[in-house]
Amino acid sequence: MQFETRAIHVGQEPEPRTGAVVVPIYQTSTFAQPRVGEHTGYEYARTGNPTRTALQECLASLEGTEQAVCFASGLAAEDAVLRLLAPGDHVVMANDVYGGTWRLISKVHARYGIEVSAVDLTDLDAVAAAFRPTTRFVWAETPSNPLLKVLDLAALAELAHDRDAWLVADNTFATPYLQRPTDLGADLVVHSTTKYLGGHSDVVGGAACTDAQTAADLAFLQNAVGAVPGPFDSWLTLRGIKTLGVRMDRHCANAGRIAEFLADHDRVEQVLYPGLSDHPGHELAARQMTGFGGMISFRVAGGVEAARRVAEGTRLFFLAESLGGVESLIEHPGIMTHASVVGTDLEVADDLLRISVGIESVDDLLADLATALD
Ligand SMILES: *Cc1c(COP(=O)(O)O)cnc(C)c1O
Repeated sequence: MQFETRAIHVGQEPEPRTGAVVVPIYQTSTFAQPRVGEHTGYEYARTGNPTRTALQECLASLEGTEQAVCFASGLAAEDAVLRLLAPGDHVVMANDVYGGTWRLISKVHARYGIEVSAVDLTDLDAVAAAFRPTTRFVWAETPSNPLLKVLDLAALAELAHDRDAWLVADNTFATPYLQRPTDLGADLVVHSTTKYLGGHSDVVGGAACTDAQTAADLAFLQNAVGAVPGPFDSWLTLRGIKTLGVRMDRHCANAGRIAEFLADHDRVEQVLYPGLSDHPGHELAARQMTGFGGMISFRVAGGVEAARRVAEGTRLFFLAESLGGVESLIEHPGIMTHASVVGTDLEVADDLLRISVGIESVDDLLADLATALD
């Protein structure tokens, strides 16, 4: 089956007793057991829930991994992945990862002995130089947030594997519709399903997609620690995934038009969008992805005050954190999503704005941005 078909059918057979064509929301915390010591495959809903199972089977199929383990949030998934490490282990992490990922490793896991180096992962020599005998993970995010850098996943996987390390890829921005990191050699894919996979800005969730053994280790950690997604959250995410392909096509088409408009605008200093031919990662993105995505960052002429006025001047683009929903959003990374990295190597320019281009009419979106910039 092709991607769009798997998104609608894998893990989603009609419910056998009633024939319901949509996977039910199994809103139950426990499952009756036929005999002592025997169960139906489900015992207690922290350990497993059939709505969550359906989501996990579907997502694993889309990422092309043996299994997926779904979590209460993207950061909960990342936390579990980092718990696979032991004190003294080292991570080479992209120097422009999502701010919350950086906070998780540098402020939480660092206290338990995990070491991290922030490196520009577009520079493969710098990546090799950052390796230590204790390096276990290279942690990549591509396209990155908010600078939309494109990383060469195949090259990073080879570099990591030559040194007995794993490549972990955050595929939140691209989604498996546009990019499949494990096809390029990644060992583990993490997601904030809050974004494009859920797709409607109505649920928070996360996932780790990987081989069966690692998934079992993560499921053990999840059951021991507890960051599970509820059945309704799992259902909303699965419902969102059904339309991922058609939504991503529209996100990409709208973003392409808007990136060109911004690039021509005299109040815009620079546009970061991998679909523009002058983007340093354009050719790599064209090779590695099947579309350039719906995220654009741009620098406004006139500094932080001008950027602030543009961010507060749109009507259709809501001023909000997050991304990947059907509605368009605008935000100021320096003050909003990336405030936790101010003063570190990961700090971003204060005239930078990030937009998540939704699937509204592109003409309305262009008019809204034109008004705000004027
Ligand atoms: C939002 C986001 C996360 C964190 O996910 P939550 O669901 O908010 O916990 C991680 N990585 C990227 C790229 C994100 O955009």
